[in-house]
Amino acid sequence: MSSGTGLRGLPVLQVYRMDDDVYERQRRIWNQDRIGAMRVLVGGAGALGNEIVKNLVQIGVKRVYVIDFDRVVASNLNRCLFFRRSDALRRSKKVEVLARRASQINSDVEVVPIHGDIRDLSDDVIRDVDIALGAFDNFHARLVLNLRCYERQVPLIDGGIEGLLGTVQVVVPPFTPCIECGITDMDLQHLWERFSCGGEATGLEGPKIPYVPMTGAVVAGIQVAECVKVHLGLERFKREGNWSDSVGEPMAGKSLLIDLRTGSFYAYDLQRRSDCNVCSL
Ligand SMILES: [Zn+2]
Repeated sequence: MSSGTGLRGLPVLQVYRMDDDVYERQRRIWNQDRIGAMRVLVGGAGALGNEIVKNLVQIGVKRVYVIDFDRVVASNLNRCLFFRRSDALRRSKKVEVLARRASQINSDVEVVPIHGDIRDLSDDVIRDVDIALGAFDNFHARLVLNLRCYERQVPLIDGGIEGLLGTVQVVVPPFTPCIECGITDMDLQHLWERFSCGGEATGLEGPKIPYVPMTGAVVAGIQVAECVKVHLGLERFKREGNWSDSVGEPMAGKSLLIDLRTGSFYAYDLQRRSDCNVCSL
């Protein structure tokens, strides 16, 4: 490549270098070396899990563990961008398909599939990750991940979707309330609802939750943005008690409600429950 000068004396070599750098545009707002060192756990390989993993491989984190025990079925295909009809015909393991196809987007990122139940997640994985993202469709799995993260002081960005409604909660142990603090009596009623989209694992198949891909894209986008802000800002927050303006302040301790029916977003502060089994001090 020539290192000469182009029009009006602009260095041609520098223009080519910028275009050859995968992360050039995000370097303008984030420290890519720190993004490239991030190790993340994603709980759930369904609609949200697909969108989250897509975002994580695009921004070039170091490693993504993704855990789910389900297999691909045709009804996943309207919202899971990594799954194909052939995967549904073979009843392929969601995490294996997700890991293989995500690696095709960015082979720099190590995507580690864990085909199994969140209750059986190895402590080695929790110890290896900087942060976790929740992408489950039931409270039982969310609460298990919440407990595992809080006891190891791993920040958790939890997401949920139902139709055109979405939620995001940012948990930063030990500073914020946990997921269990925010669950309602109605949530508890549904606690033992199905653990699997296909109802395979427990046979406790409940009513199917409505999903459209747009809600998942919005919720996953917010989750990964929060994930990066927590990761890049947490050391400073622990040291100085505030978040970096340049990185942005995450919604730590808040829950965000998203209503795509009206295009409205509403964030509110969560309160720590004094009797919470997980996080009460
Ligand atoms: Zn709690």
